[in-house]
Amino acid sequence: MHARPFIDSLDFARNGQQISGEVLVAELSRLADLLSDTEGKLSYKILGGVDKFTIPYLSLDVSGVCHLVCQRCMQSMDFEVVVSTSVQLRDQAGLDQLDKNEVEEEFESILAEAQLDVWHLLEDEILLSLPFASKHAVGMCQAVDEAGKRQEESHPFAALAKLKR
Ligand SMILES: [Zn+2]
Repeated sequence: MHARPFIDSLDFARNGQQISGEVLVAELSRLADLLSDTEGKLSYKILGGVDKFTIPYLSLDVSGVCHLVCQRCMQSMDFEVVVSTSVQLRDQAGLDQLDKNEVEEEFESILAEAQLDVWHLLEDEILLSLPFASKHAVGMCQAVDEAGKRQEESHPFAALAKLKR
């Protein structure tokens, strides 16, 4: 059992701190709602820093496997989580300013909280990384109505023969 970590985000970034660990998929309830089961765990690493414009940021890396529902056959499928991104830390005035400017920022900005919930942040980024409609690779579905198609696809010469005709 891992304790839910919190960081003082600005302090963390300015001092170039880092935190790494693992989180059970089951702990991320918003993510878990979208999955076929809550098995598995994800590894993460967060590194703080300050960019050349003196904006504090957090760089995030998350990896691991969770189980999405295939939107073709509705069966479970492995999904490899690969998140590698950075978020900039802003105070509320800074965020409001960004909203007003409506400029497409290169990096996402979040509120610089003194008690930033690390897992919550990771979960946000994982949710953003999920495909709109996850599907097994072509021909890998288990559904009965896919069986015919699967056979056809596994015989490339059949398609070739059709072309020659
Ligand atoms: Zn499928």
